[in-house]
Amino acid sequence: MTTPFYGSDFDALEAFDPDIAGVLLSELGRLRSGLQLIASENMSSPAVLTALGSTLSNKYAEGYPGRRYYGGCSEVDKAETIAIERAKALFGADHANVQPHSGASANQAVYGAFMSPGDTILAMSLPMGGHLTHGTKVSFSGKWFNAIGYGVDRQTEDIDYDEVERLAKEHRPKVLLAGGSAIPRTIDFARFRAIADEVGAIFWVDAAHFIGLVAGKAIPSPVPYADVVSFTTHKVLRGPRSGAIVCKEEHAKAIDKAVFPMMQGGPQMHTIAAKAVNFKECATPEYAQYATQVIANAQQLATSLGERGIRPTTGGTDTHLSLHDLQGIGVTGADAEKRADAAGIVLNKNAIPFDPAKPNIASGIRVGSPSVTTQGMGTEEMKLIAELIHTAITQGDGDPEHQVARDVRAQVSELVERFPAYPR
Ligand SMILES: *Cc1c(COP(=O)(O)O)cnc(C)c1O
Repeated sequence: MTTPFYGSDFDALEAFDPDIAGVLLSELGRLRSGLQLIASENMSSPAVLTALGSTLSNKYAEGYPGRRYYGGCSEVDKAETIAIERAKALFGADHANVQPHSGASANQAVYGAFMSPGDTILAMSLPMGGHLTHGTKVSFSGKWFNAIGYGVDRQTEDIDYDEVERLAKEHRPKVLLAGGSAIPRTIDFARFRAIADEVGAIFWVDAAHFIGLVAGKAIPSPVPYADVVSFTTHKVLRGPRSGAIVCKEEHAKAIDKAVFPMMQGGPQMHTIAAKAVNFKECATPEYAQYATQVIANAQQLATSLGERGIRPTTGGTDTHLSLHDLQGIGVTGADAEKRADAAGIVLNKNAIPFDPAKPNIASGIRVGSPSVTTQGMGTEEMKLIAELIHTAITQGDGDPEHQVARDVRAQVSELVERFPAYPR
């Protein structure tokens, strides 16, 4: 290294704390040895990880660039200003707040900006594909607000827009929310906007899952339609584990005040610097190509699993994830997750729409292509992965020593050797 830089000194960490250094190494080994198909995960770049491991972590910077409560903010001000300008340019947004610590924190700020306790929000219910922060009883969102849930159509298994409209007229929500964690299809933002306007609601999009596809111009953007868009930066987007919000100019002050001081304290300046790096990455042609390939791969995976009797809900996907109904092969979501894991394939059980099983068992799995696409895999590899998943979950028993688990793991090893995560 030619420039003196403190941080990311693994040798020093290993010498001082072999316990934690060991965990860092074995996690890298875990990432490299299996297939990561969790739809909300990805593998951020060494550049992003370097910014995260920097001395910017030390700085207290409550407030916003040029308006801080502490001295010494000249350098972190630069980082945050760059992050804000890049986010605005990337998404064509009037305003950006890059301080939310996570997706849930970003969502908390949106509630804080537009709602008071007891106000009504209309959002997709969790078992239909929504998120914990969209009004479930175990979350602040359902404890402090009156949350009404909409779902999907039984036939299409996609968002039931007529139901959304009916519930909006009936309940007159303060905020109408679109987005979720298990929605394989693109969302009709124009339709949502029209419904919100009809009842005088704020239209909020939680784009946590798919914002990376928007950044890569691979699917339509919610930004022109929504009053406010919250998102995570670590899913398809491939940045640091964090969150952000973009909004119309008229809501800028309300959003900024809700993030700080209403909901958060000091911002994590190292993470904000890492978000700036990530936004720069996302503006490149390589990232656009990546986003397009993520969708092609998810579609191939959905199709190939479907051909083996593992039915994709809605008949497929337009995005980075698909949801699969396992009832046709007589395996539960919980068993599928365990059997795949034993075979070196990491995916998650997931409720399917109108799921007859309990949430901790579930009748489905959710698979996503962001990580394997980052590793450089294409549609041919997705066909093989579908075959491996099918074999593991129909013939395995969850024991890593079972012959089927061993055989599949050997094929997974071969595949990840050709497409390594974090190549040496
Ligand atoms: C992941 C996710 C979140 C929460 O993000 P965290 O960073 O885990 O807090 C919020 N909303 C949706 C739709 C998500 O998928």
